[in-house]
Amino acid sequence: MSRKPVIAGNWKMFKTVPDALTFVQDIRKTAVGTDHIEVVLCPPFTAVTLMSEGLRGSGIYLGAQDVFWEDKGAFTGEVSPVMLKDAGCGYVIIGHSERRQYFGETDEKVNQKVKAVLGHGLTPIMCVGETLDEREAGVTKKVVRIQTTSGLAGLAPEQAAGMVIAYEPVWAIGTGRTASDEDAQEVIAYIRGIIQEQFGAEAAGNVRILYGGSVKPENTTGLMSKSDIDGALVGGASLEVDSFTEIIKRTSETKR
Ligand code: PEP
Repeated sequence: MSRKPVIAGNWKMFKTVPDALTFVQDIRKTAVGTDHIEVVLCPPFTAVTLMSEGLRGSGIYLGAQDVFWEDKGAFTGEVSPVMLKDAGCGYVIIGHSERRQYFGETDEKVNQKVKAVLGHGLTPIMCVGETLDEREAGVTKKVVRIQTTSGLAGLAPEQAAGMVIAYEPVWAIGTGRTASDEDAQEVIAYIRGIIQEQFGAEAAGNVRILYGGSVKPENTTGLMSKSDIDGALVGGASLEVDSFTEIIKRTSETKR
């Protein structure tokens, strides 16, 4: 089964609107191809609307870094899936480890957000991954099993098939430490097996599962040569046009 690779950039809390628009101008000048690959940029909320205009016709998609599950209401500070869609987003990162760690995001909240986002025709990029303590205690698979099954609870097989899941070992995020190609492949194949058990072979064959955690141009080809790894969620290296486009190019060459 052929799955279109995804390279998503998570800008976290970086870039003002002028910085974001300069990046858009610069990436449009590169010859980075988006035919064989889905490229997604997830800026802070403040830059979404203007980036949506700036990216028009570029083939690059826009995503948000979080969402609330209600459509509207008295929820000060929150942004709804309806608003994200209206602002031009096609993707939403849900359950990033920084949100789990600093903002009390639980598997139940992740599940509510996933359902809300799918309900509005947006694609969730749901993050799962173990901490260093959990890896050292040998419970990586147990942790990703709980996060995956809880996050996807109640979905129809077609909805699970349309998901993007990012396996991001917490100890590899922003640390310069990357999971080995083999370890990343093993956990991602395990996650695909969970999707097969819960939603069937077709969903497992179609769901895109990315690796995230200190992905850089130098480690892209090794990771992307693994059969179950369908792309990457990139933090730090997505902030510079040169490193981000190099990751896109290497992925596209490896996965062709
Ligand atoms: C991330 O923010 O999802 C991430 C993987 O960050 P980095 O690439 O900087 O490790």
